[in-house]
Amino acid sequence: MSWNDKYEAVIGLEVHAQLATNSKLFCGDSTAFGAAPNTHISPITMGHPGTLPKTNKKAVEYAIKLGLACGCEIEKDNYFARKNYFYPDLPKGYQISQHTTPICKGGHVTIQTPEGERQVQLNRIHMEEDAGKSIHDLDEHFTCIDLNRAGTPLVEIVTEPDIFSAEEAWSYVTEIRRLVRWIGICDGNMEEGSLRCDANVSIRLKGETKLGTKVEVKNLNSIRNVKKAIEYEISRMVELVENGGKVQQQTRSFDASTDTTFAIRDKEEANDYRYFPDPDLAPFHLTDTFIQSIASTLPALPADLKKKYQLDFGLSAYDAGQLCDEKETTDFFASVIEHTRQYKAVANWVLGPIRQYQNEHGIGFAELQLAPALLAELIQLVDDGKVSFSVASSKLLPAVISGEGSPLAIAEKMNLLQVSDTNELETWITEALESMPDKVTEYRKGKKGLIGLFVGDVKKRSKGKADPKLVTQLLEQKLNQ
Ligand code: ADP
Ligand code: MG
Repeated sequence: MSWNDKYEAVIGLEVHAQLATNSKLFCGDSTAFGAAPNTHISPITMGHPGTLPKTNKKAVEYAIKLGLACGCEIEKDNYFARKNYFYPDLPKGYQISQHTTPICKGGHVTIQTPEGERQVQLNRIHMEEDAGKSIHDLDEHFTCIDLNRAGTPLVEIVTEPDIFSAEEAWSYVTEIRRLVRWIGICDGNMEEGSLRCDANVSIRLKGETKLGTKVEVKNLNSIRNVKKAIEYEISRMVELVENGGKVQQQTRSFDASTDTTFAIRDKEEANDYRYFPDPDLAPFHLTDTFIQSIASTLPALPADLKKKYQLDFGLSAYDAGQLCDEKETTDFFASVIEHTRQYKAVANWVLGPIRQYQNEHGIGFAELQLAPALLAELIQLVDDGKVSFSVASSKLLPAVISGEGSPLAIAEKMNLLQVSDTNELETWITEALESMPDKVTEYRKGKKGLIGLFVGDVKKRSKGKADPKLVTQLLEQKLNQ
């Protein structure tokens, strides 16, 4: 019997996403990644006496944008509070956060599971500032502090305990990363810490409705680590409980070198942060008009587009999903279908030869010099039987991308147009059939599979320029006379 016949895992995730603003949440310091340590730290970031913070409007807009994309209710009356505690990377001695009054409430994120799509319920999305960074491995004796990150705007996306496996958690974080990138509020770079995840994990007996005691694994910085940490926690807890032990409420950390977690502290009764509204920051009220103006900037969302592509364009779920994986791909697809109604062919080209070209050259859509109209023209040439797909993708596509002209002009210049002149084809066909009379006899006796051999031979004689569809047709006519 495996553990999941008896137990069920329950997971709630808290994802911190760094908002892609140029400046910090309460002052004009740059948020650029990778600057020399402690160079983006004005007296406001440092919390010097007499300084006054001011809320970054863009950050508020981005938080609302995410809330709208997740179907949250947007809170109109907002304020920031101080969460007081001491830590060396927290220069002010408090973190400014929206503890009990999140800007976005409820909502959901749609994830993919082996059983199909499912909505993970959100509890809230709130805004807060980031702390600085303690670096323990730079100096032998000292911990180094870089405060550049202090004051960077974050949203914290908190789910209900509504995730039930490590795979679902993987799928959820993948979806969050796609979504924040899609709507342009966060670059989603987990390696640079733009997305970080805390995983709350508990187990309970199957059928039990009460939640078990949870542990919180802090600061997971890759999707892989989220999955590994949860897998480890579940197996640790099951083993503990099976051996008669009890799960302790704890905060834990993940060790990526061993894929295990270790306790960093037992959860204290966490009521000593002395939250109070920040007296230096005015509360802010959001009008319907303001929220509406942000809603109007929201692009069509991947889940909706995926459905539309299947319904309106007859694409497979797989192709639609691939096209909606990244916004750049979707945008390119959308720009091509403005010029042609061959939706399926466009999808095939974007996910096939174009993706291959991009991989070979290590470029994205931003660097791809391919006018959508020219791709549409190329697709039309293939559909008209003027060039074969293989010639179009291997020869014409690179030439069009290098700016050598329109697909038709290039095909003419490079002598790649397929011959669909019946007279010319007849000559090659006659030559081909005369060169293998035995095979012709076999064919006529019923070995119809030989047609491929004849077509191939004609193609060779034409140096690849014979339109294979037409050749097949003519061959069949001739052989069945
Ligand atoms: P805390 O005050 O410890 O941060 P919250 O109630 O705010 O706890 O919840 C934090 C996260 O933990 C949320 O994502 C929530 O869904 C999740 N969570 C709460 N209780 C449990 C539990 N027993 N098992 C798994 N996840 C839980
Ligand atoms: Mg927490």
